[in-house]
Amino acid sequence: MEQPLKRTWASPDDYAELRKYVDGDDPFMVRPAIIASRIGRSEIPPEIADSNGGINTPFVRTFLRKKFPYARKSNPKCECHWCEHRSQKYMQTCDCRECRETVLMIRWWTITWELWGEHKTATHIERDHGYSRGTVGFTVQQIKRALRGTRLDGKQRTGRPRGRPRKVQEVSVAA
Ligand SMILES: [Zn+2]
Ligand SMILES: [Zn+2]
Repeated sequence: MEQPLKRTWASPDDYAELRKYVDGDDPFMVRPAIIASRIGRSEIPPEIADSNGGINTPFVRTFLRKKFPYARKSNPKCECHWCEHRSQKYMQTCDCRECRETVLMIRWWTITWELWGEHKTATHIERDHGYSRGTVGFTVQQIKRALRGTRLDGKQRTGRPRGRPRKVQEVSVAA
């Protein structure tokens, strides 16, 4: 049976939740209060798995902070609702860097948790959050790419990899 749509936008509560995840010193005890009705099988990337196959939340928290350094900050020179008033109104559609990164951070966190923590299907997550079709798959690709590029010492990988040259991948062109 299909779950009814709860809502399709990030509410102030979502941001409050996120702040708990990202800022709190406590272990991640609070989960999004959404009950999964269908079980997905997406395999958790090894980088973010803890020893029990769950989500290594401290790692994810650090990873997201590093990936989205402007998330939840405000820019005094920006006049958008968020930067000026700390109001989340229109954050979804604002394209200032602070808003964009905050929205993305929330999306990455939501997808990480619901896909690999709660084992929901991509379709289910997209429906619950009003994401357009394909958002989860696309975001997972981006998360995996970012995981490969992140080093825990905080330095970004630079330039081309050292050592032997990478094998050139063959590209097949559809006729
Ligand atoms: Zn702004
Ligand atoms: Zn903004």
